[in-house]
Amino acid sequence: MKKPFNILLTLLLAIVLFTSCDSEESKQGQVNNQEEVKNEKDIVNEVQEHTGFALNTVISIRLYEAPEFSEKDWEDVFAVIDSVEQKMSIHIDDSEVSKINENAGKSPVIVSEETFKVIEKAKEIADKTGGAFNPCVGVLSAIWKIGTDDERVPEKSEIERALRKLDYNKLVLNREDFSVYLEEEGMSLDLGGIAKGYATDKVYDYLMNNKKVKSAILDFGGNISLLGSKEGKDWRVGNRKPDREEFLVYSSFFANDEAVVSSGDYERFFEKDGKIYHHILNPYTGYPVDNGIRGTTVIMKSSMEADAYATAIMVMGRELASEFIENKKLETVIVFDDFANYCTLNEKRNFRLESE
Ligand code: AMP
Ligand code: MG
Repeated sequence: MKKPFNILLTLLLAIVLFTSCDSEESKQGQVNNQEEVKNEKDIVNEVQEHTGFALNTVISIRLYEAPEFSEKDWEDVFAVIDSVEQKMSIHIDDSEVSKINENAGKSPVIVSEETFKVIEKAKEIADKTGGAFNPCVGVLSAIWKIGTDDERVPEKSEIERALRKLDYNKLVLNREDFSVYLEEEGMSLDLGGIAKGYATDKVYDYLMNNKKVKSAILDFGGNISLLGSKEGKDWRVGNRKPDREEFLVYSSFFANDEAVVSSGDYERFFEKDGKIYHHILNPYTGYPVDNGIRGTTVIMKSSMEADAYATAIMVMGRELASEFIENKKLETVIVFDDFANYCTLNEKRNFRLESE
């Protein structure tokens, strides 16, 4: 069971700054009302927003200029999200991922093409990031249980045992029959660092094909996707300051028709004996990341890829991360524990600090 305070935190994370590029007077963490509010009738016609809880996070979808978008369309959108959760969640006993985990060391499991492709992408990014992103992190998630009522600091011996079950080369994928096999008993997949991004992309594609929507903001608990532009102008998006107490916008920048994905140590965490333990786990130490990086934001076309990279960069640490980002030419903002940043956003995004 999720704890209500975690839901609240995720909700706070999801609140970002959206304005179009000619409005300079936006307030932190708020929609710019000068731009938005015309009269009530216009709002009904022009902006529709639905919020739900899925994939362990608060999901909010806002459509602009979509008067034809019906209740049935909304149901379809949330059915898309639900179908991803039903297949890929480790918290659902008969999900495809749970079946793969149950059969670790026993037999391959045939899964749907989409689950296969997400796992394939996860493995590819594990390779590219030297295992900083590791889809086999499930064995660690299972002993830390962060974000649940049972979260705890595992014994050293448990961590040591878990570290022996993280070899993603033993995640065997067969494209012929879409089967997935974890070669060793005790191994465990966890797509928590990538499935939300995949679901965001899927809803984005649904809305693109639906043709009743001109522009939209999808917010899947930190995974923002912007569909279209705001009346022909770029959106100004704010990313959250990595602060566990207060909600503040750290910086803002322009984005348009792309995904802006953030990961941070302030999303899900608990405190024990004065020490904070959070949900992004270092597959090399078995402990939550503790390398001075507090938050990462990645901008790409694909939310799924940006999701995995944002998690990976958290794990890499300053030097490896900057080398990796330059090498891959990624557009990112990294915020460190002293709230300094490393930013590789294109100049045209007009990156600016909102609070330090
Ligand atoms: P995100 O919020 O996208 O950074 O994803 C965090 C989630 O990804 C966690 O709740 C875990 O389910 C999973 N996760 C944690 N550490 C890693 C890691 N090193 N590689 C891949 N997935 C991870
Ligand atoms: Mg991620």
